[in-house]
Amino acid sequence: MNDYGHFDKFYIAKSKYGIGVFAARPIKRGERIMVFKGPSITWKEAQMPEHRNHFFQIGVDKYQGKMPSRRRPVNHSCNPNAGIIGRMTLVAVRNIRIDEEITFDYSTSMYNDPSRMKCRCGAKICRHVIREFKYLPKQTKQNYIKLGIVPKWLLKALSEEADSRIPKRYRKFWYKFKTNSVLYHITPRANLKNIMKKGLEPRDPAPRNWRGMHAVFMGYPRSSEYKPALKNVLAHAKKKSEDVVRLHIRTKQQLYRSSNPSRTFQVMSLDYVPARCIIKIEDILG
Ligand SMILES: [Zn+2]
Repeated sequence: MNDYGHFDKFYIAKSKYGIGVFAARPIKRGERIMVFKGPSITWKEAQMPEHRNHFFQIGVDKYQGKMPSRRRPVNHSCNPNAGIIGRMTLVAVRNIRIDEEITFDYSTSMYNDPSRMKCRCGAKICRHVIREFKYLPKQTKQNYIKLGIVPKWLLKALSEEADSRIPKRYRKFWYKFKTNSVLYHITPRANLKNIMKKGLEPRDPAPRNWRGMHAVFMGYPRSSEYKPALKNVLAHAKKKSEDVVRLHIRTKQQLYRSSNPSRTFQVMSLDYVPARCIIKIEDILG
């Protein structure tokens, strides 16, 4: 037996990655498996041999190192059966069979981390390289966020990073905005099929003065500017003889509202708006 020790729910043994952590009994989805404990360390300390490859990021500039006597070599997988919630607690994200290796996706706690690890996890959806959360495929990110295994500090940092995606000269025009109201997005009918499949992608809008800004622009029906703005859009569509539809959107994601009421665009999202946020499609021409 290559057995490195037994605990209540797991044991440590040889794995295809060296050593790993395995389920000592069936573990149910949502069940807590272990809590990672270790000293608070800096990025520099994390690079020292004793912590290297055994530290976790727990804040923008915070790391947790290895506790020498309590090594829990939980390996990475691109299709993990566990994830980290709250204060470094590993929980099962699906039912885990007895003797199955327990893994989590290291990318869920990587931010501003230039390291690139090769991945040979063997999952069908293996990404072959382990790097920061922001580089994960969109769908994977959404799944992890839904499972609650992406730390709040990381999501906050990404949202702040998003602010910096607004070109400096435009920042004064936009402020953070959340709403439960329905927002409107007008689009040529020809785009509809693609939108229902992929959601609304951030785009560089046509007006010359907004060039270089990628966002999904929407109208805020409650704003007094909406009606005149709509009139302009419809006149433009008529000139191009485009058939347009109005999408009703309800989203909880981070939005920005224009502080300049003369703008045609009143609300924007820097991130793509998933198709499930579209609650109604309305014909507005003809
Ligand atoms: Zn992989």
